[in-house]
Amino acid sequence: MDLLPSLTQREAAERAALIEVQRYDIEADLTDLLDSSDFRAVSTIRFSCRGAGASTFVDAAVTVTSASLNGVDIAEDRISTGRIELTGLAEDNLLVVASVQSETAAGEWVHRSVDPADKEVYVWTSFEPDDARRAWACFDQPDLKAPHHFTVVAPAPWIVVSNSGDPVVTQHPGGGRRWDFPDTPPLSTYIPVINAGPFHEIRSERNGFDLGLFARRSLARFLDRDAEEIFDITAAGLTFYGDRFGLAFPQHKYDQVFLPDMGGAMENFGCVTWSDAFVYRSSPTYTERENRALVLLHEMAHMWFGDMVTMQWWEDLWLNEAFAEWACYWAAEAATPFTDAWSSFLAGEKLEGYAADMAPTTHPIRQPAADVAAAAASFDGITYPKGASVLKQLFAFVGEDACVAGLRGYFAKYAWGNTRLVDLMGELGLASGRDLTGWTEGWLDTAGTDRLSLDVDGSGAAILRTTGPGGIPPRPHRLDVGVYDRPDGDRSLVRRHVVSLETTGPTTRVPDVGGAALLLVNDEDLTFASVRPDASSLRTMLDSAAGLPTAVSRGVAVTTAWDMLVWGELSAADFVRCVTGVLANESVDSVIEPYLSLAVEAADSWSPDVRRDALLERVADVCLALATDPVRRHAAVRALAQTAVTESQIAELRTLVGDDVDLRWRLLARLAEIGSADPAEVERLTHEDPDPDAWVRALVVDSARPDPQCKEATWRAIVEEHRVPMGSLRIVSDAFWRRSQGVIVAPYADRYLEILPTLHLAGMIPALGTSRALYPRAGVGAAFVDRAVAAANADGVSPVVSKRVIELTDRLNRMLTARTM
Ligand SMILES: [Zn+2]
Repeated sequence: MDLLPSLTQREAAERAALIEVQRYDIEADLTDLLDSSDFRAVSTIRFSCRGAGASTFVDAAVTVTSASLNGVDIAEDRISTGRIELTGLAEDNLLVVASVQSETAAGEWVHRSVDPADKEVYVWTSFEPDDARRAWACFDQPDLKAPHHFTVVAPAPWIVVSNSGDPVVTQHPGGGRRWDFPDTPPLSTYIPVINAGPFHEIRSERNGFDLGLFARRSLARFLDRDAEEIFDITAAGLTFYGDRFGLAFPQHKYDQVFLPDMGGAMENFGCVTWSDAFVYRSSPTYTERENRALVLLHEMAHMWFGDMVTMQWWEDLWLNEAFAEWACYWAAEAATPFTDAWSSFLAGEKLEGYAADMAPTTHPIRQPAADVAAAAASFDGITYPKGASVLKQLFAFVGEDACVAGLRGYFAKYAWGNTRLVDLMGELGLASGRDLTGWTEGWLDTAGTDRLSLDVDGSGAAILRTTGPGGIPPRPHRLDVGVYDRPDGDRSLVRRHVVSLETTGPTTRVPDVGGAALLLVNDEDLTFASVRPDASSLRTMLDSAAGLPTAVSRGVAVTTAWDMLVWGELSAADFVRCVTGVLANESVDSVIEPYLSLAVEAADSWSPDVRRDALLERVADVCLALATDPVRRHAAVRALAQTAVTESQIAELRTLVGDDVDLRWRLLARLAEIGSADPAEVERLTHEDPDPDAWVRALVVDSARPDPQCKEATWRAIVEEHRVPMGSLRIVSDAFWRRSQGVIVAPYADRYLEILPTLHLAGMIPALGTSRALYPRAGVGAAFVDRAVAAANADGVSPVVSKRVIELTDRLNRMLTARTM
């Protein structure tokens, strides 16, 4: 399948100029998938042509069993890999293509999954960016939109879920049932979806919408437990976006389907699909609930930005994703209980944006995409978190009211159409009265992160120095500098005032800061930049960040310290001191788990060998203190299970775990790492755990054992047997690459490099997931860094894998530097 042509921008433009698609009638037959692998479809396409007699092609990356154009069979020599040539077009055309897709186990396009718990079969589709052609013949490009009408024949016990609601269900003469769905609105080809299987379904009528949730049957109890909260956030989100964008969601039905073997989530119109890793198997922590709400609101934002208004070509994919990512935090704070979402963004996702931007693989946010494959490589830390940060900066630059007015203008003008970046910037410029040309060039067309350094001279005068990446001129920044005093004998810092700045060149004077205890650059996190405080502020910040008044101001302190750690300017010990100081006093739940993750990572992975245990012990002590708060207890005990080192900490961990199944698994993994997990207890817990995927937890425990045979079995389960679900790769792999087991895992570092050329064969999303999750983080040194870069650049490694490996190698290299400090 890797010989499939990737549609070029030029081909797409020529085709869009020539034809217009009136509608798709898709008949799908899933009968065979109950026991076997074939997905059958008949695609009937009505389209008009602007030049009678002209030629074009339809995409069809399937086995074509018959094809006719305007009633005349298409000769076999017109059918090549991925395409069917269409010649002698009339003004109005009828194309009928019957096809089979037999590759239904890749975790992409059409996927068939068997639940190991009860052997039930589930089938789903997922098409972004150009996989609809792997299910049926279609003009697979975003700017040829048309209504889709689905009829689906499925085994009798199955439920079929698609974009539109209220299907007419009848008995099918050949057995099974036939599901006939109403027409969708005009959709790009990557937005339609078909899901089928004996789902557990829950429905609720809220705010005038008919909401549905689906998961495989074996997860019913977990979905039931959280359904109320998911419905509440769904209803609040639909109402919020409809109101703010001045365009109501136009369909009564909005479904969300949680699916096995799927990675991430996908914004199919009216039918969002999710990895069922989001159906949490133990009572979710605050951050798990917040994450689920954010993903929900991200996919929902795409209904407007992506589905109703769609990019003309994939070069503006970043805008789709950055917008949805910005909008989900905006909506979470305004319309849900997760009112501190931007502070967790700062401590979590935004750091990934900085990491991607400091790696050699960074690129401008906006870049040309000559074909679809090139665009697919940009699903990364630049597109999502940096893109969202840059939109946040834009909205600080022009003001939220002007932004909302601009967005309303945009949706009013372009609903159901296709746009380019200039269309959005035009509406925002109009609403704000500002010329955004310089902003666009600086922020969207330039790679890398600006550095903002504060200099304070002996007289107390402050100058903010702004340097662009690699010596290029810096971008314009709209930012705040917080000026803080410390009243005598008080731990807290009092904000005297905020200096609001717009930088336009390399130096900007910061007025009215004399005598301050701390000057916090980028207070309230308006811009995207690598910040360096003046020497005196740095000391105060590391010691007393907890005394800052808001979650975001404390977050700016913590993430500034993290940035200095990754640039080799601060030791892991200093970072741990700063973040544990904040954690011990933090009043906002949203940041607890992100900070715990950073603290664990700094102590465990970024510290020198000789200081590691001492830093882990320090983090474990903070976990013990946090565990006294009922809201934070579960998250704190999870982090304790990663850090407990002393005998008394292990003993306290055992007590805190109690009879909680999730925590018992984590305790076992910790005990396994230090060589004392009881196999009988693993056996017992596997039977007690109601999670159908409990065997994965047992694998995590085995994976953590300092035993070469266990490591080999885990490696085979992931790499050769492909038994580990995508959503669990990370936890299994974290247990595998233990720093304390460097000698045992060292041989697998080169085995990782050996499999790189094969990863993409399983599809793009699995390749991304595997290359990231399996990346070596123990038993490797400076020599591995060179080998990894060479292996990533070798022939046969796909661009997405190569880029990911180079990015992770940059991070490893920084980690190795920090370990010498
Ligand atoms: Zn998205």
